[in-house]
Amino acid sequence: MEYEGVICRPPMELGAFLLPVAVGCTHNQCTFCAFYKDKKFRIIPLEEVEAELARASETGRIPRRIFLGDGNPFVLPTDRLLTILDMIRRHFPEMPPVHLDATVANVAGKSDEELRALRLAGVRKVYIGIECGDASALTKLQKGFTLSRAREQTARLQAADIDWGAHLMLGCSGQGKGHETALQTAAFLNDTHPTDIINVEMFAHRGTELFRQISAGEFMQAGTLESLKEERTLIENIRIGVNYDGFHGWHEFHVWGQLPEKRTAMLQKLDAAIARCRAEMETDHEQVPDKLQRVRIHIGA
Ligand code: SF4
Repeated sequence: MEYEGVICRPPMELGAFLLPVAVGCTHNQCTFCAFYKDKKFRIIPLEEVEAELARASETGRIPRRIFLGDGNPFVLPTDRLLTILDMIRRHFPEMPPVHLDATVANVAGKSDEELRALRLAGVRKVYIGIECGDASALTKLQKGFTLSRAREQTARLQAADIDWGAHLMLGCSGQGKGHETALQTAAFLNDTHPTDIINVEMFAHRGTELFRQISAGEFMQAGTLESLKEERTLIENIRIGVNYDGFHGWHEFHVWGQLPEKRTAMLQKLDAAIARCRAEMETDHEQVPDKLQRVRIHIGA
């Protein structure tokens, strides 16, 4: 299959077999996201999906997981998803767990019966771009959901025995708000129990509304030091068992591990990074690279 547009998936899905079933994002309004700006959402014909599955099964390798791409494929009609899951089962009777990205609205668009049917057919995890626990930041980012809606919908997934993973973005609320946002985000996560967290420092692609807002001085970005501290406060306050993966543009700094087991080691790593960043700020007038120019890793729906 010819892969089209941006292929993005959570870092914990890197070993998964990527099976595109759609192109683009039906929401496509988040102010920071440029992934699908030039793509009109479309569903990939079943024959192409089947051909890709046939190609993969002919290799003789059984994928440990299958990640359905791209954008927000959970928006596909349930019948269509069930047909694709049935195809997967025919090509891989072992039925590897199937994971995919969704928006809060996509989950809301499925009945409880549909969620249970998808679970029964093989869907095990859905990743959602929650970004942060600051309600006003979500409105400004044009995420298209409220925190109470996100609470409701993640609870519905869990009631259907489907896990959910959270995409977060450090610095969502802007300069000076990192500490408060970290506490709000931790409270949301502690209530909603994701199994995985992917946390990426905010970045702005050229051509996005966020880029325009930053360039016009309408949005003040948090600096690197504040983002590191925000992540420290977040990790300190997460009270659930969760697989955590966090990324910064600053020296490609990366902190990861299972919480709570690795909390102490992760906090020590962050403390060392915070001290190093402070030292750099004292000696380097440039202080922080231009975040507007950075090309960064994945964010999801
Ligand atoms: S962040 Fe996710 S939901 Fe928002 S526009 Fe991009 S792909 Fe769509």
